[in-house]
Amino acid sequence: MANKYFDVVIIGGGIIGSSIAYFLAAQKAFHCSILVVDKDPTYAQCSTTLSVGGIRQQFSTPENIEISKFGSSFFKSIDQYLAGSDINPDISFHEAGYLFLATERGISTLKNNYKLQRSHRVDVELLSPNQLKKRFDWLNVSDLAGGALGLSDEGWIDPYSLLMVFIRKAKSLGVKYLEDEVVGIDRNANIVTDIRLATDEKIVFKYVVNAAGPKATEVAQMAGINNLPVRPRKRFVYSFHCKTKIPDCPLVIDPSGVYFRPEGDSFICGVSPPESQDPDCLDFVMDYQLFEDVIWPTLAHRVPVFEAIKRGRSWAGHYAYNVVDQNAILGPHTKINNFIFANGFSGHGLQQAPAVGRAISELITFGSYQTLNLNKFSFERFGSGKLVKEINVV
Ligand SMILES: Cc1cc2nc3c(=O)[nH]c(=O)nc-3n(C[C@H](O)[C@H](O)[C@H](O)COP(=O)(O)OP(=O)(O)OC[C@H]3O[C@@H](n4cnc5c(N)ncnc54)[C@H](O)[C@@H]3O)c2cc1C
Repeated sequence: MANKYFDVVIIGGGIIGSSIAYFLAAQKAFHCSILVVDKDPTYAQCSTTLSVGGIRQQFSTPENIEISKFGSSFFKSIDQYLAGSDINPDISFHEAGYLFLATERGISTLKNNYKLQRSHRVDVELLSPNQLKKRFDWLNVSDLAGGALGLSDEGWIDPYSLLMVFIRKAKSLGVKYLEDEVVGIDRNANIVTDIRLATDEKIVFKYVVNAAGPKATEVAQMAGINNLPVRPRKRFVYSFHCKTKIPDCPLVIDPSGVYFRPEGDSFICGVSPPESQDPDCLDFVMDYQLFEDVIWPTLAHRVPVFEAIKRGRSWAGHYAYNVVDQNAILGPHTKINNFIFANGFSGHGLQQAPAVGRAISELITFGSYQTLNLNKFSFERFGSGKLVKEINVV
């Protein structure tokens, strides 16, 4: 039996793989066949659907700011991209902003980031403790030196709805989705030629895209690429209910790294651990002690009415964590030119999906980026040492 052939095979149908599939299929200059392979069509355990859905402009690198700017404009005009005769995108964009708080120790970094963000026309305002208190009377500002509040283009969306609408639109444009697990990638010198599936099928391609999220390193290794610095790192999300209402609450990032935001009538929150306490991990076992010992005391300190809260549903998900510089890895492998990375998004891949989908579709269609130049995120940077250091990783 002849092997199946697709011009582009995308491994992983999460938000990154499905955005790439959509933008490729929507490229007028590209009339090719596209296959997305995902082992789990429910997407119940992928990073995308377990994420917090945050969209922000407040990054510390120009490239991430520009990527998120496109993300936000995409989400705000999503109908232009993803609506169809029977597709009505509703991703529940709550444009309530991010509030980054700083003590004396962090205020100069916050101010530097603010300057950079303003130079990229980000709608962000620097607030003194008094101004913070005036705006958010529920906030304890006693130990704060200031805060930066996003006034527009920031907030959160519903990740599951976004993923579903990307998939439906991609399918409507001719993209095929296959439920199967990629278990091998065959390579002939510096060209990858086909994927092998758990069902024993082989699929031949011109390009393969690694969009396997936390499993990106496993997939790269199938092609003999053993130095992709992406590791699965577990993150917990806890919901809680507070009887006292706190009005106009943005997504708040405490100086400790603990974050919270409204979710319906309740809130969700979490914190990233220090690097030394962040092992590689692919299980979903919850840590409730982290909430009791670290998160709740921090919440109660920052918002005194959070002293009286009731914890609700909680879940764990995984970052595809780039252990070298916490940023995306995009574009072809240095030697294997038809193996394309879209990996390592750490905590900000959801909001980067539109710009990344567009960028990878440009690379495949035209051989170079046409809109945003994302060459800085190449795999090559690990060899040249030209890293992209993002300090605002939540
Ligand atoms: C708790 C948490 C909170 C987050 N909060 C935010 C946030 O507020 N804002 C933000 O922008 N980002 C956030 N993120 C990060 C964001 O969710 C991810 O960066 C993004 O979803 C990555 O998407 P992806 O498509 O690369 O990976 P995934 O969504 O994990 O998709 C990868 C897919 O690949 C498939 N796959 C893997 N291996 C194989 C194989 N061998 N064969 C077939 N299929 C395979 C998997 O089944 C999966 O469906 C958060 C992440 C977590 C875990």
